Amino acid sequence: MKFSFVSLFPNLIKPYFEDSILKKAIEKNLINIDFYNPREYSKNKHNKVDDTLCGGGAGQLMFPQPLFDLLDEIKTKDKDAYIIFPLAAAKPFKQSDAIRLAKKKHIVMVSGRYEGIDERVIETYANEVFSIGDYILTGGELASTVMADAISRNYDGVLGNNESLDEESYNLNEDNKLTLEAPSFTKPIDFNNLRVPSELLKGNHAKIRNLKSKLSRCKTKYFRP
Ligand code: SAM
Repeated sequence: MKFSFVSLFPNLIKPYFEDSILKKAIEKNLINIDFYNPREYSKNKHNKVDDTLCGGGAGQLMFPQPLFDLLDEIKTKDKDAYIIFPLAAAKPFKQSDAIRLAKKKHIVMVSGRYEGIDERVIETYANEVFSIGDYILTGGELASTVMADAISRNYDGVLGNNESLDEESYNLNEDNKLTLEAPSFTKPIDFNNLRVPSELLKGNHAKIRNLKSKLSRCKTKYFRP
């Protein structure tokens, strides 16, 4: 699958794809990425991309022309490109969205800067808008990268072992309820007098499943009552 990142600061995004799992996914040609900088599309003689707010108010806003031209170009090259705007004031991005969006062939992430983007751009081009949390970031680059990461690991082959996806937090249980993963342990079994729960060491898979499911329910109740 492909991600196109629309950003005034592509160098904030690039390094994330130059290491670890996503680097390997790119090397294996599972994931492709490219970048578009709105400044290169500005018809302003100083390549400006921002202007003051209509009706007054602090700060600047990204004005429509560079983004209209840029997104038209992307749409001309690929009419099925699926355009997402990270926005603070949007519905929350969830694991179910990451799983669903991993089926798209081409996702375009449009990062806002300043006080954001003129609403007419969003109205014209957005297939979906998402917030990654109830706080304000300085720009959409982190949010775009976060969503691309969460989506990519659900794309077939990106994780070495697809089973890793089966027992993760935010999967829905048999009652269609959100669950968080049970606490996990590795070796050594005894570290500084802190012992791994003995039930996990006895090889009785039914009992292990039972314990994990109990711990998972406790954790979910505690963090997401
Ligand atoms: N004035 C906007 C508001 O109050 O909703 C905030 C603008 S923010 C400083 C600039 C850009 O960062 C936004 O256009 C968006 O792309 C991105 N952004 C900020 N917080 C975000 C969040 N929680 N989730 C997703 N994107 C966010």
